[in-house]
Amino acid sequence: MNLTAATRLAGVVGNPITHSLSPVLHNAWLEAAGLDGAYLAFGLAPGRFRAFVDGLRGGTLAGINVTLPFKTEALAAADRVSARAHAAGAANVLVFGTDGSVSADNTDGEGLLYAFARQAPGFRPDSGPLVLYGAGGAARGAVAAFLEAGCPEVRLLNRTRARAEDLAARFGDRVRALNTTDPGALSGAAALVNASSAGLGPDAPPPPDFSGAPTTAVAMDMTYRPLRTPFLKAAAARGLRTVDGLDMLIGQAIPAFTAFFGQPPPAAADVRGRVLRLLGEAP
Ligand code: NDP
Repeated sequence: MNLTAATRLAGVVGNPITHSLSPVLHNAWLEAAGLDGAYLAFGLAPGRFRAFVDGLRGGTLAGINVTLPFKTEALAAADRVSARAHAAGAANVLVFGTDGSVSADNTDGEGLLYAFARQAPGFRPDSGPLVLYGAGGAARGAVAAFLEAGCPEVRLLNRTRARAEDLAARFGDRVRALNTTDPGALSGAAALVNASSAGLGPDAPPPPDFSGAPTTAVAMDMTYRPLRTPFLKAAAARGLRTVDGLDMLIGQAIPAFTAFFGQPPPAAADVRGRVLRLLGEAP
């Protein structure tokens, strides 16, 4: 990499940020495409997000990805908001216009469907109910993406039932909150998606009992450290097809890269392999 004053810049903002894999993805694509660009990571203290964004208006940064805990603030900081960011109630991409404007988008839902398309070919979001574990920001984006793709019903299973009910109320009749113990919670499901941030340590909740799910269902876990989570292992033991969270990360980064650097990332670049090696997950 040969940085000059003409190098096109983008980055990711979050707190904490040192774990972010976004610089690995974007810089690998920049290198493979031979573009004069660089992608950096910015850690930011809570309460400083709005000032940070306003300071970048009309400057040289093409755009930023936004991760926890700033995704809701990112939506509020923008002048223009895409329909899918509005539906998700959060933004993970901000693009800076030369006129000083800021445009917000949310590509997490696109990343989720990209992961299904890559790892469960033939899966159709409109083919049956989605069972979604979690009711936070990522779950909200998943609901928006699946409804948009024609999913007939979304069942929310969350530790805090009231939060699932609030989320369901935002989306209308096709989304409802259930308890994991409700009979038939998994019956007829086409997809089971884990959007919970429950840790994976000894205190972590056990993976769901998938015995009530049809064996034709596809299970997906947004967590990708490790790649084969207890959720995915339990689903595979039930005979379900599985989709891991790394392709969602890659899938949300593709449209962001295109917005920042003016062209899609080169398809031939093996960013998944590069990240897997970095995570010590390479076969
Ligand atoms: P939020 O903090 O907004 O939501 C967290 C959710 O996890 C809540 O539903 C919460 O339930 C649930 N939860 C947390 N701890 C537990 C626990 N011990 N037992 C049961 N449920 C628990 O996080 P996000 O929605 O933003 O992110 C969720 C996950 O998705 C994260 O792991 C994140 O890294 C991942 N993610 C992955 C992406 C990818 O590209 N692969 C993209 C975006 C997110 P409650 O309401 O009861 O607190």
